[in-house]
Amino acid sequence: MLQEVALGTKSLADYTHLVGRGLVEEIRELAGELEGKRVLHISATAFGGGVSEILYTLVPLMRDAGLDTHWQVIMGREEFYNATKLLHNSLQGDPATLTAEQWELYDHYNEVNAKSIEDEWDVIIVHDPQPAGMRRIAEDQAKAWIWRCHIDLSEPNPEPIARLLPLITEYDMSVWHMQQYVPAGMDGHGGVHIVPPAIDPLSPKNMAFAPDDASFVCDQFGIDVDRPLICQVSRFDPWKDPMGVIDAYRIVTEEVPEVQLALVGSMATDDPEGWEFFQSTIQHADSDPDINIFNNLNNVGAIEVNAFQSQSDVAMQKSTREGFGLTVTEALWKGRPTIGGDVGGIPLQIVDGEGGFLVSSPEQAAQRSIEILTDPELGRKLGRAGKERARERFLTPRLLRDWLRMFGELDL
Ligand code: UDP
Repeated sequence: MLQEVALGTKSLADYTHLVGRGLVEEIRELAGELEGKRVLHISATAFGGGVSEILYTLVPLMRDAGLDTHWQVIMGREEFYNATKLLHNSLQGDPATLTAEQWELYDHYNEVNAKSIEDEWDVIIVHDPQPAGMRRIAEDQAKAWIWRCHIDLSEPNPEPIARLLPLITEYDMSVWHMQQYVPAGMDGHGGVHIVPPAIDPLSPKNMAFAPDDASFVCDQFGIDVDRPLICQVSRFDPWKDPMGVIDAYRIVTEEVPEVQLALVGSMATDDPEGWEFFQSTIQHADSDPDINIFNNLNNVGAIEVNAFQSQSDVAMQKSTREGFGLTVTEALWKGRPTIGGDVGGIPLQIVDGEGGFLVSSPEQAAQRSIEILTDPELGRKLGRAGKERARERFLTPRLLRDWLRMFGELDL
């Protein structure tokens, strides 16, 4: 019933030159105590979104460190995913919540999936709310259960959080991106750990490109690689504020007329609201030939995202609300000066004036873009500082180290 995700192999040794020998040695030492421990990650999907992005690297590296690690995804029908999408949104503040029948579906699918867990595990890590109810049913299947939250639960709709809290407080540990995302009611329950996510510096999306290769790819998408580029990579979602990015770009053109903008965003084919917002973004661009809007239907995959980010003179993430913002780490890691909205996980990544700038309006985003575009040395300096911050804090080996430390606190 649970589907095992097939994974490639990764070797921690390949990361030594990027994260330093000290961290790799610390990982080996922690892993020595955990040799052969059986770890199961459970998530709702293996495609799209931050959770799968992280697990495709974390799980192979955990294996390389000597733990017998697996990743399995739960099964459900459309009715279950409709309910969990509503749950996801309402936990982040949307007033719409699940009907009584949808809660029954939630419980039903959690029970069916929980009963299909095979084998005994040292640790089961459940990612996000969709499978959170499995522990109750399958408690005996693991020595310890950890709930990993990837979303912001600081201002939830009261009804769904009241349903979720009794489930998650029973876990032996819970892990959150930031302290402010932990809802009231978790106090005193299990170990609450704050661990931000991370990116894989060796994945196709983040591996080092020769500058010529990045421009070669961007050129094929109609970007003039001899002119400056501002780029935002993100879903077409109001909280990512692509309209605000267009407004900022228009102000920049007054001082830097040769500037171009690229908005790169993935789209789910079954998300009508997303398409509507995408259409409004195109209308807002008003046929400006220097505003380039791409989505995955234009064949923009990991390599293309890498190329656009690497080619940017200014990387933008002008969100008005943001869980963590992996795109910010991705841009910083590529040494790009990055301008981000002063919300959610972005200030954790960009210290204002180091790595880039934090902004709260299109005007500020424009002003900071102009400063960077008219002073290449400033851009280089910010880029270098941002890359170092990404290296120290937001690459997967650090995340692996944190997981091993947490396992060490459990009586496995
Ligand atoms: N992404 C992508 N293609 C796109 C848009 C986004 O691959 O067209 C990736 C992006 O590179 C990042 C992830 O999707 O790895 C988005 O994560 P983030 O935390 O920035 O935002 P979320 O979409 O989870 O709110």
